[in-house]
Amino acid sequence: MRKPVIAANWKMYKTPAQAQEFLQAFLPLVANHKRDEILLFPSYVDLSVAIAATKGSNVSVGAQNMHYAEEGAYTGEISPSMIKALGATHVLLGHSERREYFGETDEIINKKLHAALHHGLTPVLCMGETLEERDAGKTEEVLLRHCQEALKGVVPHAAESFIIAYEPIWAIGTGKTATPEIAGLAHFHIRTQVAHLLGRQTADRIRILYGGSVKPENACALLNQPEVDGALVGGASLDPQSFAKIVKY
Ligand code: PEP
Repeated sequence: MRKPVIAANWKMYKTPAQAQEFLQAFLPLVANHKRDEILLFPSYVDLSVAIAATKGSNVSVGAQNMHYAEEGAYTGEISPSMIKALGATHVLLGHSERREYFGETDEIINKKLHAALHHGLTPVLCMGETLEERDAGKTEEVLLRHCQEALKGVVPHAAESFIIAYEPIWAIGTGKTATPEIAGLAHFHIRTQVAHLLGRQTADRIRILYGGSVKPENACALLNQPEVDGALVGGASLDPQSFAKIVKY
């Protein structure tokens, strides 16, 4: 049995005061919730506030990105040790917005993945196709490439704690959601590919989340797909009531 994960990606929203306000409202709403793992990915500047506020709760906190180097002359970047030192447990890697606006390639993401594992941070590896790729019938090929490139050099036992997020780019922030069937099939392709690369046991343990315009109204249908092990939620995670409804789908 894979424990579902419901994760919030706040992107570049919320000041520390707003993060604090969110958590004051949100934590009591999910205080007794045990069925799912709850993750929060606030911006770097909100990490300390979020980690302090969630201490001892059922909510874990991760960073939305990090550099792969241990330290160095990389102005504006944050290292795995810095994130770890704050008390973060997870890190989001390869989000399509990082790939599209900040030139992240599968090769860079692979380096970050290794750095995250080395530092004991659980990676949430994002992948997904564009609308053009889907329309051209290339979804499976794209997911296969993302898996092969991002997972290069990863050993099966290290990968079991991984989380993968399938995020079709055409569904992110657009209000268009993949149907449960589209999501289920994509997740099946990803798991098959992971089994091919890292073995069946690892593939059966990895949680694969769906992301792309998940809202309280569509969460249940998506999350009831057997291959869908949770959700990565952007816009609808910014409001405590809305995110709590998704957690309790
Ligand atoms: C995301 O940013 O990972 C995401 C899925 O966003 P949204 O839910 O707003 O589509």
